[in-house]
Amino acid sequence: MVFDAIKIPLPEYVVEALNVLESAGYEAWCVGGCVRDALIGRDVNDYDIATSALWQQTEEAFEKAGYRTHETTGIKHGTLTVIVAETTLEITTYRIDGTYSDSRHPDNVQFVRSIEQDLARRDFTINALAYHPERGLLDCFGGYDDLNARTIRAVGTARERFKEDALRILRGCRFASQLGFDIHPETLQAMKSCKSFLANVSVERITHELQEFLLGQYVHDALLLCADIIPAVLPEIAAMKGFEQHTPYHMFDVLEHTAYVVQRVPAYPLARWAALFHDSGKPAAFFLDGERGHFYGHAKQSMWLARGALSRLCLSQSFVDDVVKLVELHDVVIQPTARSVKKALAKLDGRVDLFRALCELKRADAMAQTELAIPRIELAEQLQATLETLLDSKEAFTLAQLAINGNDIIALGVEPGRRIGALLDSVLDAVIEESVANERETLLEFVRELI
Ligand code: ATP
Ligand code: MG
Repeated sequence: MVFDAIKIPLPEYVVEALNVLESAGYEAWCVGGCVRDALIGRDVNDYDIATSALWQQTEEAFEKAGYRTHETTGIKHGTLTVIVAETTLEITTYRIDGTYSDSRHPDNVQFVRSIEQDLARRDFTINALAYHPERGLLDCFGGYDDLNARTIRAVGTARERFKEDALRILRGCRFASQLGFDIHPETLQAMKSCKSFLANVSVERITHELQEFLLGQYVHDALLLCADIIPAVLPEIAAMKGFEQHTPYHMFDVLEHTAYVVQRVPAYPLARWAALFHDSGKPAAFFLDGERGHFYGHAKQSMWLARGALSRLCLSQSFVDDVVKLVELHDVVIQPTARSVKKALAKLDGRVDLFRALCELKRADAMAQTELAIPRIELAEQLQATLETLLDSKEAFTLAQLAINGNDIIALGVEPGRRIGALLDSVLDAVIEESVANERETLLEFVRELI
């Protein structure tokens, strides 16, 4: 079906590229995510063009018209990169994917004649739309209606499509989180029944999709919607679903509480991953005392689960350490005084970014609890305010900010070695405790008394 009255604003360089191909006698369309996002008024990531031209013909057409092109690794799948108005554009020959023997990589791709065939190999109907400024919107699978109904639906038989390429299952979860769309019941059912095929997907792809999922604007709803799917790649969070807490502080089960916390921390990876795991250890730590549930030590259990899960993914060791640190500290009470903030910062090696993330996590955590936790929301806000005031005041909370360093202590006659570090730590403690001023002479005098 063609909706020729629908108009999408396209950047000039995209129209220019379509014209180069069509003037050379080929057919070309904008396809995929750019059409979807433009139709719903979302910022477009990148514009992809599909064409009837083989990549060599695309290359020839652009070079003849005076543009630069690049053959990259995409070439074997028919993708050529061209530079138009200093912007790179990927142009791909109409193709269908060959058979999949491993639920991930097509064994080969086959170039085809028609855009309709190309659209049929795409994952979801909302991603299988093509647009041309003169011909309008081409929609062979009801993607336009699904877009308006805010529904994610597989193109063709969902089970077949997920068996072919299991990554599509996580892409479906990710689009639900990014777009706030529902997943069509049959598609959702197939995502669940095919989730074991996710074992065939590379850990790089899984990490990418999970992170995009967590950063989504509608992650709360998506986490609940996909609660039976995500644990196929993160079994550590499986036990959260339906786990009732039996405490006056909580009105949600652990999963729903977590979904709120993830949604309420700002959308950057450190905060979102820490929020996802902060209470994951609760089911393991739980015991019931009469009517009342307790979770002593749950932060430790959550740390283990977080470390296990994140170490399996493609994330740097230092990033994993940071997430685990936040999980560890999420429940530790820090008074909103300059002194205790400085102490906490010193323990975090002066990492202001981690401390800020901790404040954000604490605040979101309290917001996702009953009204009994309202004081904790205020506490988290005061903590962050204290931090900002402290940063303005330039008071010291790291060794590097002290008015003396190791060389000064050596100059006082202490042998180089461990003792220097210990003495500097004592100096920092005293400065944080405000029992001594952070001034060079005062600190040297303080050290002289210690040695
Ligand atoms: P975004 O760029 O915002 O992540 P997108 O929809 O453009 O979203 P891409 O990964 O850039 O996603 O893929 C471009 C298009 O290619 C998709 O819209 C879809 O039509 C198709 N596509 C991508 N990956 C797959 C897949 N695994 N199976 C089927 N079609 C896919
Ligand atoms: Mg894209």
